[in-house]
Amino acid sequence: EIYTLSLHDALPICRLAGGVAHDFNNLLSVINGYCEILAGRLLPHDPSRRDVHEIHAAGQKAAVLVRQLLAFSRRQELHPHVISLNRLIRDHAAILGRFLGSAGRLHLDLAPDLPNVRADPAQLQQVLLNLTLNARDALRRNGDVTIGTAIREIKNGSNRRVTDTPPGRYVLLSVSDNGVGMDAATHAQLFEPFFTTKDAGKGTGLGLAMVYGVVQQSGGHLQVHSAPGVGTTFEI
Ligand code: ADP
Repeated sequence: EIYTLSLHDALPICRLAGGVAHDFNNLLSVINGYCEILAGRLLPHDPSRRDVHEIHAAGQKAAVLVRQLLAFSRRQELHPHVISLNRLIRDHAAILGRFLGSAGRLHLDLAPDLPNVRADPAQLQQVLLNLTLNARDALRRNGDVTIGTAIREIKNGSNRRVTDTPPGRYVLLSVSDNGVGMDAATHAQLFEPFFTTKDAGKGTGLGLAMVYGVVQQSGGHLQVHSAPGVGTTFEI
């Protein structure tokens, strides 16, 4: 069975989180800034150095999280360029494959003559990374992850049941895995900030929220097909 999600459901909470993240970001700048001042003032053998270092490391981790929050709540500035999606994927295939490690194999299925897209390459890279890491975490034995591109025509009237994407001709980016898939309850909450089914310390629940924000802000559309025991495909 294929589930789809109306993306509009997640918007109000994204805005709320974005407002909090903005203020939080300012506070973190103060914490991290004073850490640096303090560290500079301590002598090399001062026993407090390690403590200050720990505070600073935690502060910087928090700053990364806040950046993700800002990204999905549309408050992060994007720098869009006209780019070749195929080239972006090829350029990052090696590193993405390394992230998969022994969990599975990475395949590319790239359409020739793909039109360029207008998007922020650094953010798209993050999107690819988040989707690949999620795919990795879902894999079982003989895991396969495929990053694909295609031209997708959404016709008027057709497919209305399974997509809320307006009719038109689109460049499609997909990331598929043959992992555990997800049930309807997970599928319904997927993009919610802090929603995770992973163990504490493993998942932040911000990966897909970030993906959602970047796609929305870039004027794109997002769909997820998943079936328990079969796998998951994200289509952008
Ligand atoms: P995190 O990865 O930190 O848990 P995400 O927002 O990236 O946060 O993902 C939220 C949840 O969505 C995951 O915990 C998982 O339950 C589910 N999920 C995401 N991608 C997949 C996938 N490819 N296969 C199965 N479940 C997935």
